[in-house]
Amino acid sequence: MQNTFFTPGPAALFPTFEKHLKTFMDRQLGSISHRSQQYRDLHRFTVEQLRMLLSIPDTHQVLFLGSASETWERILLNCVEHESFHLVNGSFSKKFYDYAHALHKFAHVYEKPMGEGFDFAEIEVPEYAEVICITHNETSSGVQMPVADIHKLKAKNPDKFVAVDMVSSAPYPALDYSLIDTAFFSVQKAFGMPAGLGVWIVNEACLAKAERLRKYDSLTIGAHHDLPTLWKNALKYETPATPNVMAIYILGKIAEDFNRIGIETIRKETEHKAGLLYNLVKKHNNFDAFVKIPRHQSQTVVVANTKKESSAVISKLKEKGLIIGSGYGEFKGSQVRLANFPATSVAQIEGLVKALGEV
Ligand SMILES: *Cc1c(COP(=O)(O)O)cnc(C)c1O
Repeated sequence: MQNTFFTPGPAALFPTFEKHLKTFMDRQLGSISHRSQQYRDLHRFTVEQLRMLLSIPDTHQVLFLGSASETWERILLNCVEHESFHLVNGSFSKKFYDYAHALHKFAHVYEKPMGEGFDFAEIEVPEYAEVICITHNETSSGVQMPVADIHKLKAKNPDKFVAVDMVSSAPYPALDYSLIDTAFFSVQKAFGMPAGLGVWIVNEACLAKAERLRKYDSLTIGAHHDLPTLWKNALKYETPATPNVMAIYILGKIAEDFNRIGIETIRKETEHKAGLLYNLVKKHNNFDAFVKIPRHQSQTVVVANTKKESSAVISKLKEKGLIIGSGYGEFKGSQVRLANFPATSVAQIEGLVKALGEV
């Protein structure tokens, strides 16, 4: 029996993944030089499809890294001289903050308990913070930050960088890149691919800062994947190190598939499927939504408290070939996490809702 994965990452593979993998093999793309025109054309195709899908303007570059968590370090090294500011409400936003400490930055934090979200009006940005680090979708707790609030933060703090972790939501959030300096994701969540590639979207202002910081003796922007070197290579549709050609190729093809479906359709369908899941969780006696305030409820990762041990629910569903996520950290035994990414169809989510209803 083939399982269906509703796990929040690694997640279900997008249905066309296998076809694209086969084409990659048939065309022997795993052996081409990463300094060849054939590679540059492949790289360019992926960047162009992502630009179209996410409305990324020419002021921003699209760069390829090893993972999303690598991007945390790249942003902190290249865009922060002294101080960063972090909105923390779960494990992933906390790790971004921890990276800042590890890199000897002075990190400010506004922290909320797991399950709670942030609203623009309550956020006080420290005067000397250089970058505001926001997690659009906190995967550990199923909390999202409304995109309008993220945009307002930049409008109110135009002299600071706004950095958005959209790892477990992209391409869902409709970010306006005139108000976002940098954003990033990895491919094993909503893009429905195996892990191994991070995508870093970053603007010219960040590049200018990295070039300035690079000249300081008292500071390092790092040796591996520093922003000016990444950028210089990206202008030629290349990468400094030998890249993950397979993932870059398949990401381009899946982004093309998403473009064919249409981003508006993907967003609407995401909201429709999330509605089905939240409805079930609300109605059913065995569950309730962990995130109480609707505007903070993630559309891509639904987290539910379970009456019984969550392992009982998880194994009941597993018997039917439905694989769902457990709670994160301290909530492992008392919650389930249900991914709602483009790879799972309305029919599959309806099947999951039915199966959960019968638990
Ligand atoms: C998964 C995840 C990450 C880490 O991504 P990696 O590809 O494992 O580095 C970072 N932030 C969020 C919100 C995530 O869900």
